[in-house]
Amino acid sequence: MARRLGIMGGTFDPIHMGHLVAAETARVDVGLDEVVFVPAGDPWQKTDRDVSPAEQRYLMTVLATAANPAFSVSRLEVDRDGPTYTVDTLRAVRDERPGTTLFFITGADAILNILTWKDAEEALQLATFVAATRPGHDLSSLERQGLREHVTVLDIPALAISSSDIRARFAADAAVRYLIPDSVEQFARKHALYAAAAARPGEHLQEVAVGG
Ligand code: NAP
Repeated sequence: MARRLGIMGGTFDPIHMGHLVAAETARVDVGLDEVVFVPAGDPWQKTDRDVSPAEQRYLMTVLATAANPAFSVSRLEVDRDGPTYTVDTLRAVRDERPGTTLFFITGADAILNILTWKDAEEALQLATFVAATRPGHDLSSLERQGLREHVTVLDIPALAISSSDIRARFAADAAVRYLIPDSVEQFARKHALYAAAAARPGEHLQEVAVGG
C-alpha cells in the first residue's frame, strides 16, 4: 500500500501543544505513517506583524517534535528563497517521494482562503487537505467554495491554544507552561523572541480553555 505522509504546514511562531495534538490526531485518525512539520519560510500573506526569523521557528519546531518517532521537521520552506507557496512544497515532496500519498495539514482558517493561494487547483490535486479546527468552527464556506470533497476536517479542542495568545502571554509575563513544550519556552526566553511583543497591534490575551 502507498505510504501516507502528513505535511504539517504552519508559521509556528511559536509551535504549541495545539499543533502537536493536531498532528498526532491527524496521524491516528487519517492513518498517516509519518508527519513532517514544514515551518513556513516567508509567510507572504502576513503583512500585519513581524514574524520571528525562520531559523528560530524551525529550531523550536525541532525541539517540540524531537520525542515523537513519527514526527520530523523539514527545512524545505526555510531554505527556499522568496515567498512561501504550498504548491512548491507539495511538488518538491512529490518529486522526492514518488508514489507517496500526501496530506497537507494546517489550520482551518488558512484552508478557507486556499482559493487565493498560488496554483490552488494543482495544490488540491497534489494532496488531500486536512483542516484542523476547534469544535463548532463555522466551515460552511468550504461547501460554498466547492472544497468539501478536497478537505478532511478534524476537530481539535486543544486548538483553543493559539500562537498569538502565546506571544501575548510572553509579553505580559503571563503563564505559558503546559501550553507550549518546556524546551520551546526556554528557547523563546533565551532569544527574547516575544519579550518586546507587548506593543504589537491587534494582539491580546484570550481565555484559554485547553480541552474545553
Ligand atoms: P495563519 O493564517 O497564521 O493561521 C490561520 C489559523 O490556523 C490560525 O488560527 C493558526 O493558529 C492556525 N494554524 C496554522 N497552522 C496550523 C497547523 N499546522 N495546525 C493547526 N492550526 C494551525 O496560517 P499560516 O501559518 O500563515 O499558514 C498555514 C499554512 O498554510 C502554512 O503552511 C502556509 O505556508 C500555508 N499557506 C500557503 C499559502 C500559499 O501557498 N499561497 C498562503 C497562505 C498560507 P496558530 O497561529 O496558533 O498556528
